[in-house]
Amino acid sequence: MNKLFIASNNAHKLSEIADILIDNGVDLELVCPKDMNCTEEPIEDGMSFEENAYIKAKFYHDLYHLPTIADDSGICIDYLGGKPGIHSARFLPEMDYPHKCAFIVDMMKDVTQRGAQFVDCLCFIDQNEEVHYYLGVNEGSIAYKPAGEKGFGYDPIFLIPQFNQTEAELGEEYKNVYSHRAKALKKWIIDAKDKF
Ligand code: IMP
Repeated sequence: MNKLFIASNNAHKLSEIADILIDNGVDLELVCPKDMNCTEEPIEDGMSFEENAYIKAKFYHDLYHLPTIADDSGICIDYLGGKPGIHSARFLPEMDYPHKCAFIVDMMKDVTQRGAQFVDCLCFIDQNEEVHYYLGVNEGSIAYKPAGEKGFGYDPIFLIPQFNQTEAELGEEYKNVYSHRAKALKKWIIDAKDKF
């Protein structure tokens, strides 16, 4: 079976990516840094989702010479001018995610501008070292209070208006089809399925 390197140490992301690929009939052996006992990590000092996704994909492609996908993602909150965006993982670094979510909803308790997007840029470096990008964006809004136990990160405060539920309430049945990550990966699947 052909191998595909997934350039992430985030267990939640790895599991979502694996599920989305399986759901879409992609039959590849997925390999991640942990499988290689890799302790080195790239420095994500890019200025955009694209740059950070490329930094991660290139770092692991150079190490293992396997077709590699990396995604860089984050939540962009309209009221915060698009922040935390590429800094989502490092936003409010002293807090865990339940506290970050609580802090955001408290800060926005009287705010009517509640729009937000989850953005995912996926960078794929193929066998020929060609670089491809796929963007996935999911529109939502910031909930008035965190809700739900599924998912990870900011899912408990990312409200999907048509369901009036957060991604953490909707869970994988929703996320594996409609999330920013699912949208980016599905574009990659259409583009790359003949390349393996
Ligand atoms: P990175 O892409 O690994 O640099 O980090 C992305 C960060 O954005 C995560 O650590 C989360 O804080 C947030 N994030 C990205 N995707 C999701 C998601 O699907 N649900 C919740 N939070 C997410």
